[in-house]
Amino acid sequence: MKHVNVSLFVPHLGCPNSCIFCNQKTISGKCEPLKNEDIVKACDIAKNGNYDIADSEIAFFGGSFTAIEREKMISFLETAKPYVGTYFSGIRISTRPDCIDEEVLGILKEYGVTAIELGAQSMSENVLIKNERGHTPEDTEKACKLIRDYGFSLGLQMMTGLYGSDDETDIYTARKFIELKPDTVRIYPTTVLENTKLEALYREGKYIPPTLEDSIKLCSRLLLMFRENNIKVIRLGLHSGGNVEDGFVAGAYHPAFRELVEGEIYKDLIDEKLSLLPEGDYTLGVHPKEISKALGQKRCNAEFFRNKGKNVKITGDETLSRYDVIIIK
Ligand code: SF4
Repeated sequence: MKHVNVSLFVPHLGCPNSCIFCNQKTISGKCEPLKNEDIVKACDIAKNGNYDIADSEIAFFGGSFTAIEREKMISFLETAKPYVGTYFSGIRISTRPDCIDEEVLGILKEYGVTAIELGAQSMSENVLIKNERGHTPEDTEKACKLIRDYGFSLGLQMMTGLYGSDDETDIYTARKFIELKPDTVRIYPTTVLENTKLEALYREGKYIPPTLEDSIKLCSRLLLMFRENNIKVIRLGLHSGGNVEDGFVAGAYHPAFRELVEGEIYKDLIDEKLSLLPEGDYTLGVHPKEISKALGQKRCNAEFFRNKGKNVKITGDETLSRYDVIIIK
């Protein structure tokens, strides 16, 4: 059965900050403030679908949920609560690390929130300052501990290629995340959006975003780091749609970013297997669900090896796990 998420966007609502890269309205594609009727409508539509309740959530995304004026935040939760346990397994919210304390966690618990995601973005103090995040790495560490102590599922979000960051710093952030033991991670390469301070820095030549190619390489490393530590990466790259294409100025945005990253992982794995072998025809095995990733988007991996004199055919083998590659002949 299907997994269902009722996604409710709360753009900028309650956000005390103005991070240099953020134009939340562009990201969420929604300018109207969220109303209680919107929550009811979205939940009513979703509850009629065919899905697994245990694998379904109501998700408040986009702003800093716990920084929303208390009365309004509670009224959103009150509206969503009757659906929790009956139609959906819980509520997921996202917020800033410095907007978490015991008082607000007590409220979230009471209203059926099960998962909290923190927009940590970087664990480098310097990068946080340069991007005007308004919180420190210590705020993130403290918030993670509190969220865990209260028994919530913990999610962390990071951005790669931020102003003042580089691959080494992004890998450092991933390492710090692993130490914090989140249940889930989301990775977003930085994009320059219209009407942001980052756009001005970009236009002045003071910020050069990493290329799509470089971001794919970096994110393939990050994805494997989290996988090795049993941390699920539930999102890689910004969602397509939501008008991000309209506000996009520059950066590593691609609607199928994850597919490209996973294709890169397979390219490296296959290269490792074939690098010492002579030119010729090879049949490789991967899990059947991974065949298209192993071939790469638009079969670019097959093309890559063909250019090296190696014709690669990929077949499915149920006994293999994700990222296992074997040479059959
Ligand atoms: S905290 Fe989040 S919503 Fe607020 S400005 Fe920064 S990125 Fe945007």
